[in-house]
Amino acid sequence: MSSDKKKIIIAIDGYSSTGKSTMARHLAKAIGYRYIDSGAMYRAVTLWAMRHGMIGSDGTVDVDSLSASLPDIKIDFEVQPDGTQTTMLNGENVEADIRTLEVSSHVSPVAAIPAVRHALTDMQRSMGEKKGIVMDGRDIGTTVFPHAEMKVFCDASAEKRAQRRLLELSAKGEKVSYKEVLENVRSRDYLDEHREESPLRCAADAVRLDNSDMTIDRQNEFLLDLYKKIIADADS
Ligand code: C5P
Repeated sequence: MSSDKKKIIIAIDGYSSTGKSTMARHLAKAIGYRYIDSGAMYRAVTLWAMRHGMIGSDGTVDVDSLSASLPDIKIDFEVQPDGTQTTMLNGENVEADIRTLEVSSHVSPVAAIPAVRHALTDMQRSMGEKKGIVMDGRDIGTTVFPHAEMKVFCDASAEKRAQRRLLELSAKGEKVSYKEVLENVRSRDYLDEHREESPLRCAADAVRLDNSDMTIDRQNEFLLDLYKKIIADADS
């Protein structure tokens, strides 16, 4: 494990369902860093908006009400005895509730609201103040931590990503079709890339990783090697 002096910030960005969270969590555990899933924070705000009737049946978000309510939304991560993290929304464990296809279908419009992004960006920056953090998301290397010492940008074909997501949702008992999941993956890609505030972009200094045909072990090895190289270069 690295000493405090050498602690860095690691930003893992990319398209939805590219396995970012799995590899970011694995890397954080391997090097003794804190892991933060920034997507879970956008999902938690979305769940809160849904529960408070701020998302209409046609999907429109009541931007003014949600923006005014942001100070009432407290998001935290609790580490469980087995090492996994759960997302807490105002003290409630919402880990399962934020992963449904319903939340996935509303999250990108919520994440496009500037007030939501500003509030969550502030929270994310304060979580990274002491460094020693691996954060995954869409804008971590471009907006949240533009000076992160290690940046990775993940991509894979939409079809591969939809297959992975379908397996995850089916394993949790959600009854969804491949077509629905593929449409959700494509529509989130489009909204995330085309929003005005912090759109999904690969940072100029990020290492690109297309993991369409990579095993999870190979991805983990790739990230750990990159981390070791960055630390060794910083030492020399
Ligand atoms: O990573 P995950 O797929 O759970 O993220 C859910 C959604 O949250 C994304 O589709 C995106 O709209 C939004 N998001 C974001 N910025 C981040 C992380 C997630 O806009 N840093």
